[in-house]
Amino acid sequence: MTIIIKTEDEIAAMRQAGRIVAMILKTIVEQIGPGMETKELDIIAARELEKRGAKASFKGYRGFPANLCVSINEEIVHGIPGKRVLRDGDVVSLDFGAIFGGFQGDAAVTVGVGKISREAKELIETTRGALEAGIKAAYAGAKLGDVSYAIQDYVEHQRNGYKVVREYTGHGIGHDMHEEPQIPNFGLPDSGPVLKKGMTLALEPMVNAGDWRTRVGDDQWTVCTYDNSLSAHFEHTIAITGGEAEVLTK
Ligand code: MG
Repeated sequence: MTIIIKTEDEIAAMRQAGRIVAMILKTIVEQIGPGMETKELDIIAARELEKRGAKASFKGYRGFPANLCVSINEEIVHGIPGKRVLRDGDVVSLDFGAIFGGFQGDAAVTVGVGKISREAKELIETTRGALEAGIKAAYAGAKLGDVSYAIQDYVEHQRNGYKVVREYTGHGIGHDMHEEPQIPNFGLPDSGPVLKKGMTLALEPMVNAGDWRTRVGDDQWTVCTYDNSLSAHFEHTIAITGGEAEVLTK
């Protein structure tokens, strides 16, 4: 396994790509509302990418047909935007990546449409907290397993009844969207490779309100919870530094 260490210049380029991802996600979140077709969110993403001279990471990746992944309620990741209309109470995960200056940024957020249930709010907050716990554990000298464990521990030990998805993981990122290493959202502390300054990683906890198992929908893309429980997803691209990790997608 080769984990690519980035130079300061490469990280500077990733910071630009990351900022573009963050700004576009923010724009989409600001406009999301009941009555919108998910396709409209993808159109916003395409327009904002063009404005900034950036390219979509996802479009065409293994044949994925859109700029943005939109996954609703029991959908976990890889939902394809289309004619589905968002409704009050929906829980929407938006996953988005951009390429700028030859480097990638990748991030995800989960938001509620209109008024959402308390259960949904708690799930969203747990998933956001899991990402924060992972970022806190990611510093030079720590091990990758410490990051995985921090995420799992936050979700499954500190909260009640939630499970991290096992079958999809975070990843190294840089020139390519998916680089080494794979970053599971579960694991053992003090295991795996040692993190070094200049590594750039996409941490992305996916948390289910029920069973951790998944199934793939009829479109061969959309990943759903096996038991149709709600799911949430947060992701940041980060750089390992001498101290606290730098979040590149903020
Ligand atoms: Mg990712």
